[in-house]
Amino acid sequence: MPPRYETEIAVIGGGTVALSVAVGLLRLGRKVTVIDEHDGAIRASRGNFGLVWVQGKGDMLPAYTPWSMAAVEIWPDLAEWLQDFTGIDVALEQPGGLYLCRSEADLAARAKKMATVAGHVKGAYSYSMLDNRQLREVVPQIGPEVAGGSYSPYDGQADPLRLFHALHRAYAKLGGRYLPGAGVQRIEATARGYILETTHDRISAERIVLAGGLGNAALGRMLGVDIPVTPVRGQILVTERVPKVFHTVMEQARHMPDGTMIIGGSWEEDSGHDTATSHAVTRRIASDAMAFFPFLKEVNIVRSWGALRIISPDASPIYDEVAPSAFLVTCHSGISLAAVHLETVADWVHKGAIPADMADFGLARFRRDVPQQGAITP
Ligand SMILES: Cc1cc2nc3c(=O)[nH]c(=O)nc-3n(C[C@H](O)[C@H](O)[C@H](O)COP(=O)(O)OP(=O)(O)OC[C@H]3O[C@@H](n4cnc5c(N)ncnc54)[C@H](O)[C@@H]3O)c2cc1C
Repeated sequence: MPPRYETEIAVIGGGTVALSVAVGLLRLGRKVTVIDEHDGAIRASRGNFGLVWVQGKGDMLPAYTPWSMAAVEIWPDLAEWLQDFTGIDVALEQPGGLYLCRSEADLAARAKKMATVAGHVKGAYSYSMLDNRQLREVVPQIGPEVAGGSYSPYDGQADPLRLFHALHRAYAKLGGRYLPGAGVQRIEATARGYILETTHDRISAERIVLAGGLGNAALGRMLGVDIPVTPVRGQILVTERVPKVFHTVMEQARHMPDGTMIIGGSWEEDSGHDTATSHAVTRRIASDAMAFFPFLKEVNIVRSWGALRIISPDASPIYDEVAPSAFLVTCHSGISLAAVHLETVADWVHKGAIPADMADFGLARFRRDVPQQGAITP
């Protein structure tokens, strides 16, 4: 059966990561088709916290520290372009961010982590560790039980749903073809690229991008490649509308442009692909939140949700050409990295190669030598 669609570059996935790369490719003049699943599919892009964040990133992969710094530096250009081109304000704010630690043990672990990541960009990483008094000088609403926290000036937040909407609108306006309800089920290599078989269609593409979030594990199997991404659930609580009381962004709670606050989130490694919320976890999140911000005792929670993070073994992005002209783009922090995905990663796909100095992000880092039987291991 001949393919129903032909395209230069097929991007598989319809989340923030896929759309960031796809919009970047359209801006470079390429013909792009985005192939996505149905509305009920799992999408981290619809359930995240929306932080545009640097602090702490790269503790397990040093190259990730300068990469996330580069991402937030060009984020304002992305926000401005989306506003001009789509009319959507993605509500970017970059006032600096705090990470709060309830106990002295958490604070000591945080100090160690921050020293590690700062060491990856010697002399160029600004942060401070704060005790309770210093924290409350920045945000007076923080509770007396909080041991301390870390501050970095690079951190901020955006509205992730507005970002998702703006990327889709930009993609349509730039003439991209979007095929929803069309999960890719088979990938066949041909002399000219790839044939993708979806639930309804056959699409031929010269180049493909695997950007299907957790679906990348299955897409990798179609190419005979092991892509180690696993789900980690996060549950998030939403408050009723409250006056904006702080302007610093925090990992534990943030004000949303609609006046609500979101609070969270859990880190559940045993969730499988289940996005449900549970009473035990939401109760713990609420109890922590009231210790962090005592004023929340008077505020009602109006809803909650669960969503799945896409986590690699070192919680860092994976960028690789996994087969000739088949590029893998996946990460946990797709909001924070949206600007570099659109500007830089799209350019690699456009040029057909990932630069050698980005090799640290490749899949090879997860391939460990297996000791031969009988070999002596320490
Ligand atoms: C609770 C939580 C909080 C988070 N907080 C932040 C934050 O504060 N800041 C931040 O930067 N990031 C955050 N993240 C992470 C961020 O949400 C993700 O990095 C980002 O949304 C990932 O986007 P994605 O496009 O890779 O995946 P997804 O949004 O999951 O989209 C994957 C898409 O691929 C499609 N797909 C899968 N398989 C196939 C197939 N075979 N064929 C066709 N389509 C396919 C799916 O249908 C889906 O549309 C958070 C995530 C969670 C869960």
